[in-house]
Amino acid sequence: MMRRCLEFISVLLLGSLMGWIWYSPIWMFVGCVAGGLSWLALDQARLRQLLAWLKQPDTQEEPQLPHVWEQIAERVRRLQKQWHHKARDSQVRLNEFLTAIQASPNGVVLLDQEGRIEWCNQTAVDHLGIHPQRDLMQHITNLLRDPAFTAYINKGLFESEVLVSGASASPSKPVFIAIRIHTYAKKRRLMLSRDVTAVQQAEAMRRDFVANVSHEIRTPLTVLSGFVETLQTLDLPDEERRQYLSLMAQQASRMETLVSDLLTLSKLEGSPSPGRHGWVSVPVLIDRCIQEAQGLSHVLASKQGQSHQFEVHTVPELALAGNADELRSALGNLLSNAVRYTPGAGKIVLRVQRLPNGDAALSVADTGPGIAPEHIPRLTERFYRVDRSRSRETGGTGLGLAIVKHVVQRHGGQIQIESQLGQGSVFTLHLPADRVRLEHV
Ligand code: ADP
Repeated sequence: MMRRCLEFISVLLLGSLMGWIWYSPIWMFVGCVAGGLSWLALDQARLRQLLAWLKQPDTQEEPQLPHVWEQIAERVRRLQKQWHHKARDSQVRLNEFLTAIQASPNGVVLLDQEGRIEWCNQTAVDHLGIHPQRDLMQHITNLLRDPAFTAYINKGLFESEVLVSGASASPSKPVFIAIRIHTYAKKRRLMLSRDVTAVQQAEAMRRDFVANVSHEIRTPLTVLSGFVETLQTLDLPDEERRQYLSLMAQQASRMETLVSDLLTLSKLEGSPSPGRHGWVSVPVLIDRCIQEAQGLSHVLASKQGQSHQFEVHTVPELALAGNADELRSALGNLLSNAVRYTPGAGKIVLRVQRLPNGDAALSVADTGPGIAPEHIPRLTERFYRVDRSRSRETGGTGLGLAIVKHVVQRHGGQIQIESQLGQGSVFTLHLPADRVRLEHV
């Protein structure tokens, strides 16, 4: 500033001096004013130069200015650098933020005050079928035409979620998307979407399960209460009375079996998978299951006339790592089904094999009626039965194969079902090599 004042005074003095040398004191005054005006014009020119550079600092060449102008230019240069750094940091942060939202399992859509899409992540694209570039600034209601969603938007009360069908839904594979809108910053909207297909399916399964259990329990209960009422109101002869009591006992036992199977299933679902430390001897397991199956066959033979033929092929030293009770229940269910669905005098073959890859295969083959192919994929569903009356007649609950599947999956294996109508069926349990060993005795 000092230098600037000195420069101004020097110019005034120079103008006065020139006026005084050449003419008179009046011209001295004129020279002084002319010097001052020249200095102001020069200063203006420097200011213009600086302003021109400030307008386009990136394209214009940096001006060479003296004194205070140079200081201003230097200060602006520093501020500009700081601003560039800040802008770069903000861009990096914004990119990180957007990448995090992209990675979110939830769909995120930003809507402006008018409900137009400003930005959306890939999950929202997958859920709702909107295009991340083409659909920008489109009204969300023009793209999502589900009536439930339109009503939700029109109502404007975003306290709960709305359920819409997902973009990838098809009649055979429904997809359910839950959408919730949150308002922020003066009517802007944040729209979040979640894939709730699994939750919806689990809820539907739970409802079906409760309905099935209620139905299964109500049937024997209705029969039982009918008999109780008859016995209470009618004075029946002893023989008929005994008959009624025996039928009542049958219904009670049916309910008991059902409850026992339900408890088994819930125990299987609620406990950790069996470890690999306890080894179960396959010949011992088979002996026990075959004895039970033969017992059942004799009971049925008293009604059907003839019992079944049993054939066993086993590997004497084979042992399986797992839970003995669960494995017995799985094999026992397969044998019990073979006995119950195969007419008297039919043949049941139990075969144990160690496969070349080290896995074990335990199969139960029968010469029963066989199963039509459309039923096979559904047999392990709870309460799924091909022949409901035959199942009930023989004390089935519709839960046997669901238990078998659970047990074998908990042991790292799988169940395979092969059958042809009129040709019998083969149910095989495959257990992985790491749960199989030969015990040398
Ligand atoms: P259930 O208690 O009714 O036998 P499961 O879950 O054990 O229930 O079996 C489901 C259905 O699979 C049965 O109702 C039956 O229709 C069919 N099924 C199972 N095993 C056999 C078999 N060995 N032969 C023919 N059908 C079978």
